[in-house]
Amino acid sequence: MLRDATLIDGSKIAIIGGGPAGSAFAHFAQKWAFKKGIDVSITIFDGKDFLQRGPKGCNLCAGVIAESLNQKLQEEGIFLPEKRIINRVEGYCFHVDGESLLLSCAEYEKNTIITVFRGNGPRYSTFPENISFDDFLLTWVQDRGAKVISQPVWEIKLSDNKHQLLSLYYGEKSNLQKFDADLVVGAFGVNTYLMKKIQNLGFGYKPPSTITTFQAELKLGKEEVLKHFGNNIHVYMPKSKAIRYATVIPKGDYITVSLIGKKDVPREIFREFLNLEEIKTKIPLFKPHCFCYPRIVISPSKNPFTHRLVMIGDASFSRHYKNGIESAFITAQLAAEAAFCSGIDASSFSSFYYKRAKRQIIHDNYYGQFLFKIMI
Ligand SMILES: Cc1cc2nc3c(=O)[nH]c(=O)nc-3n(C[C@H](O)[C@H](O)[C@H](O)COP(=O)(O)OP(=O)(O)OC[C@H]3O[C@@H](n4cnc5c(N)ncnc54)[C@H](O)[C@@H]3O)c2cc1C
Repeated sequence: MLRDATLIDGSKIAIIGGGPAGSAFAHFAQKWAFKKGIDVSITIFDGKDFLQRGPKGCNLCAGVIAESLNQKLQEEGIFLPEKRIINRVEGYCFHVDGESLLLSCAEYEKNTIITVFRGNGPRYSTFPENISFDDFLLTWVQDRGAKVISQPVWEIKLSDNKHQLLSLYYGEKSNLQKFDADLVVGAFGVNTYLMKKIQNLGFGYKPPSTITTFQAELKLGKEEVLKHFGNNIHVYMPKSKAIRYATVIPKGDYITVSLIGKKDVPREIFREFLNLEEIKTKIPLFKPHCFCYPRIVISPSKNPFTHRLVMIGDASFSRHYKNGIESAFITAQLAAEAAFCSGIDASSFSSFYYKRAKRQIIHDNYYGQFLFKIMI
């Protein structure tokens, strides 16, 4: 089928990935389509089921929702229900060289930074209701008309003819299905083979650089969690070759521990963390039931767009070790605006998405990296 590179009645948008970036893009696309009075169909592909517990249903992150993102969601009319909020954060406690510094949030900010589980809780946990943050966002856009296909995408085919729709192939590997779309949005994050495949399409996309981190959920019981950590996010900067910094985030009966190294973390990093003087007395030495080795973005992608294809979220840009979910939201908002207000050709994405996202996110990274260099 041949079409111009603009979204019109009957256009089909395919979003690969139903994490925060994919759901946010669907939300903004729904808004723009309504505003412009055009009838587009939106289909989100994701093989993950966020109602599963443990890594199977989780997008592998510490689950801190920044106050600024919370505000942006509310401005969009998206209010996270109380049951999906695990904790409200009162402050940050930094531990460096045996000293601790507690920074309480200002009164107006208190309880506005929240913590969530991205999936439906740690492995073997029992919550009476669905608590997944990602499920909440995906259900939000689904209820407003987006279709979800619970299958992974394996391949995308570009065309030399700019009027030709893009094709993607999804489903069981032995029985692939074809889906043609006017616009394909790559919201697949960085823990996927798809990044490499898209790089190999040859239009100049260079995925973001990443390093492997370690993350675990530990069940200590609410009393122990409050006794040792309160409702504060703890950041440890130990004298360690392997650990650049560690965070402990209280979440009800659980704590989430994230360990970031100077490069890919070694397998024994968790034992090293538990043996730190400042941790020994707080967390018993045991193997967590729920742990994973997710990748974190350390540099931006290059050319995350071509004709009819645009990458958003982690697959494009993310703030340096900070508020990745908010970056996903911002890139989704900018890319949707570019697609609906300018076009879905490469030059529209270059001028109205890439340059603006670069200004908002990448420039912020320079300050982030500088601060990291002087602090750690
Ligand atoms: C250890 C660690 C801690 C973090 N802590 C925080 C934090 O506290 N707060 C914060 O804001 N950010 C945090 N981040 C960053 C945050 O996780 C990411 O920035 C955010 O998840 C990016 O959203 P996304 O939608 O781009 O990608 P993702 O959340 O990774 O979602 C991508 C989706 O695409 C799907 N997908 C992948 N491949 C395919 C395919 N081939 N076909 C179909 N679907 C596919 C996946 O199943 C997934 O659902 C942390 C990251 C790490 C590694």
